[in-house]
Amino acid sequence: MELFEGINLYIQYVYLASAVLFIFGIKLLGSPATARRGNFLAALGMFIAIVATLVNEEVLNYEMIAIGIAIGAVIGAVLARTIKMTAMPQMVAIFNGVGGGASAVIAVSEFARISDGDISVEGYIKLTIMLGVLIGFVTLTGSLIAFAKLQDLMTTRPVTYPLQNIVSGLMFLAILGMIVYLVGFEFNIYVFYALVALSLILGIQLVIPIGGADMPVVISLLNSYSGVAAAAAGFALGNLALIVSGALVGAAGLILTNIMTKAMNRSLANVVFGAFGAVTSSGPVAVETRTARSVGAEDAAVMLAYARSVIFVPGYGLAVAQAQHQVRELADLLEGKGVRVKYAIHPVAGRMPGHMNVLLAEANVPYDELYDLDEINDDFRNTDVAVVIGANDVTNPAARDQPDSPVYGMPILNVDQAQHVIVLKRSMSPGFAGIDNDLFFKDNTRMLFGDARRSVTSLVSEVKGL
Ligand code: NDP
Repeated sequence: MELFEGINLYIQYVYLASAVLFIFGIKLLGSPATARRGNFLAALGMFIAIVATLVNEEVLNYEMIAIGIAIGAVIGAVLARTIKMTAMPQMVAIFNGVGGGASAVIAVSEFARISDGDISVEGYIKLTIMLGVLIGFVTLTGSLIAFAKLQDLMTTRPVTYPLQNIVSGLMFLAILGMIVYLVGFEFNIYVFYALVALSLILGIQLVIPIGGADMPVVISLLNSYSGVAAAAAGFALGNLALIVSGALVGAAGLILTNIMTKAMNRSLANVVFGAFGAVTSSGPVAVETRTARSVGAEDAAVMLAYARSVIFVPGYGLAVAQAQHQVRELADLLEGKGVRVKYAIHPVAGRMPGHMNVLLAEANVPYDELYDLDEINDDFRNTDVAVVIGANDVTNPAARDQPDSPVYGMPILNVDQAQHVIVLKRSMSPGFAGIDNDLFFKDNTRMLFGDARRSVTSLVSEVKGL
């Protein structure tokens, strides 16, 4: 008995060490320069927490665990190696879903253990089991719907029906009633089944009315839920590492959700209940009559090579075209000619937080050339050429100037204030918000049509020839 207590105490110390590693890891993830180290530290923290758990005397079957680890490791490694950068949000959605599902399964097994053995446990343990079931299963089905939307397995538009929010509210109330009954009165297996079923349906119900463009915000929110579910499972199991890591994920997910909604000038309630992007009118669609002026690579290269300052504005199209290495090459060439080069990073450019930072880091763009929206927005008016590479919504002046625009109030990069603007994209198609961009029709804007990688490659060879 004493020996077991010794082991338990030792495990708690290891969990504490792993919590410290998680926290330092997250801190280091705050800057691209230290992010790799941060990732490593957090992974090390998780590794030692897992090892400590495996030496715990409560483990009954090592064979099953070994098989689980082997299957999970193979799937994880293959996915990490093969996933395309543009499909990263879907992958995160699946990760959240399985995380939430795992916590829910733990909660179900704890329910089974307690009700089978007729063990009497404290009320708060029962409550955390029920919360683990609710939040874990909501996260599971909600994340699967998010995955299906982003993978185009179902419509990316909001799926709405009359009184939808009221139905969700009623479901939530019914779930609360069941939890009160199970915790306060009787551990009834049928009520528990109903709780599981309703939680699974609620996850679907909450995510279907949300449009594809808002999905990354929802994924961040579901990420937070998966953390809360893990923390609840941690309480149910009395596992310190699970409580700490779950709480960290829960808090980090919520902070990120807040940053993203702010950068889109939306409230969380508007994202979750607003059905942004739903087709609301069947009236006539306004036909665009203005014309945009295009430019060839040769003339664009002259504008760049003879500029004093250039700001690159990357967006989702850069990720699609995978043009980051060519952009870096172009920037090096321009710097060689004495041009001052900067990169403007909008917080929601691309399809996930930090998307542009990751791409540019891959091409070894120096971190000190990357500027956040607040740092660089005043520089555009003193800049000779702004080069927009596959960005659209994050440069739309309507967000600043047109109160009736759906994106009004979203902070944008003031690209239109540069002396000249060159926009690299394939067509006049809108970006993710599905609205036209006035920037393309401004007098100082020239469109360089084509795939961004091809266009930048042409610019590189033209600049070399000057
Ligand atoms: P957008 O989605 O507004 O526009 C991307 C543009 O890239 C398109 O207009 C497209 O035009 C162009 N493009 C696509 N492929 C290529 C290619 N191969 N070569 C050249 N151009 C290409 O992107 P932004 O980055 O400006 O904005 C991000 C949007 O996503 C915002 O609406 C934001 O709110 C939303 N969002 C982002 C999140 C995040 O975390 N980053 C989270 C939630 C939402 P064309 O087809 O003509 O080439």
